[in-house]
Amino acid sequence: MISTGEGFVMRHHSGRFFVQHFNWPCIAGTACHDPDRQPELSYALTANALDATLIYNREWWLTRWLDNNPAWRATIDQFEVVPGPGCGCCGARGGTMWAEGDQFRCTKHKDRNPCAIEGCRCTTDRAGREMRSDQFLCQKHWRPLTTAEERRVYSRIWRQAKARERKFGAGYAWSMREVRRLERIWRRIVLKARARAAGDLDMDEINRMFGWEE
Ligand SMILES: [Zn+2]
Ligand SMILES: [Zn+2]
Repeated sequence: MISTGEGFVMRHHSGRFFVQHFNWPCIAGTACHDPDRQPELSYALTANALDATLIYNREWWLTRWLDNNPAWRATIDQFEVVPGPGCGCCGARGGTMWAEGDQFRCTKHKDRNPCAIEGCRCTTDRAGREMRSDQFLCQKHWRPLTTAEERRVYSRIWRQAKARERKFGAGYAWSMREVRRLERIWRRIVLKARARAAGDLDMDEINRMFGWEE
């Protein structure tokens, strides 16, 4: 899929993106020279960020565009201006882009996932797993941004799975319950690591969200 360049897109609170279409009244494929036949604009929401209308000047969009399209003032609160689709690993936009869910990758990084910490350029082979930005903490960030307790709990779950694998065979390493438990703990570790990286240390709130039980 092709991204048309840099800029911003308008994201609706439903997760879809604002797109404007020019509808030419002339017959498709013919040159139109009639000055009375002006293109009509129509607006829609699209699930694909690569189809969204790219905005190059955020302030212009939020002021001048709204002045020209006053009917949209009533709904503007439902939108957020966010960076246009870019590679989750290096931020590159344009050229051939690969998409999965809300994630995008350039060709160089199509098989990589980035470190979960914003701005970190470390990536890992996603080895056929989902394209996501919250599945990996690099060596540089793993120790400084997690506590010994978190690392201990996380590695214990893996040790227990390995023990089950040795005892019962590869198919028995993980039960659904254990998979969910690992996912929950990993989500919490990433959320806390991101909060620590951002200097936002409201750990009590995060603990409440996950009902930390270990
Ligand atoms: Zn990239
Ligand atoms: Zn990192």
